[in-house]
Amino acid sequence: MHLQSLGSGSEGNATIVRADDLTLLIDAGLGVRVLSERFEVAHVAPRQVDHLLVTHGHLDHSRNAGSIAKRQRATLHCSEKIMRHRSICRAPELVALRMGQESEIESQQGRGILRYKPVLLPHDCDPTVAFRLQQGERTAVVLTDIGRPDREVAKQLGGAHLLVLEFNYDPEMMRRGPYPPVLQQRITGGRGHLSNDEAAQMLELLIGPELHTVALAHISQKNNSTDLALETARATLQRLGRDDVRVLALSQHEVSDNLEV
Ligand SMILES: [Zn+2]
Ligand SMILES: [Zn+2]
Repeated sequence: MHLQSLGSGSEGNATIVRADDLTLLIDAGLGVRVLSERFEVAHVAPRQVDHLLVTHGHLDHSRNAGSIAKRQRATLHCSEKIMRHRSICRAPELVALRMGQESEIESQQGRGILRYKPVLLPHDCDPTVAFRLQQGERTAVVLTDIGRPDREVAKQLGGAHLLVLEFNYDPEMMRRGPYPPVLQQRITGGRGHLSNDEAAQMLELLIGPELHTVALAHISQKNNSTDLALETARATLQRLGRDDVRVLALSQHEVSDNLEV
């Protein structure tokens, strides 16, 4: 199984997951033109995406989910609550997420099979989920848009070989930054996003012996820096005696490497 970010941050999120001949897209929050360009960079062909999984209804995740599902002839999996959203309802086929339950999906040819589990997160858009993806013995977790570190969430998302984890903001940069107080309160509150230190706490709750890569995601371009996020993640891993874990930062504007799970 491989994961490749097509863009990560408040302007839009999308991640490609490949498992044998199965191609999955998690979120489609980028513009249609940007997404098509990034599909090309990532060598995703038209109609290659078999399934599209949507984490929640915020537009930076769901903006073009319905139209991409339609273009790609992909089955769209999302919470029942957002199925009628304009951004969603264009999809040719909709499947409701079963919270906390494992579901199996396969490619159109039926060779690639993958199991996924949506796990509910504290975030100011109900419901919001993280996804735990499993193919054979390999596990990947995609966890962004969570308001605070949460032990129960971590329990349900354990055993990841590859972890995509939100490192959203640095509190000091947020305080000095351009956001109005109301927006600052929303982001830093328990149903907003994780600061670098909160993300580090979440990493500590999630880490297991099998973890080999952490990809830092949803890094704010205004209230954080990639260097600060990387520094925090690396310091945490060092403290835990886990220098062996590879750390990288996902970008809003660039397609990432195709990361092996
Ligand atoms: Zn988001
Ligand atoms: Zn959100």
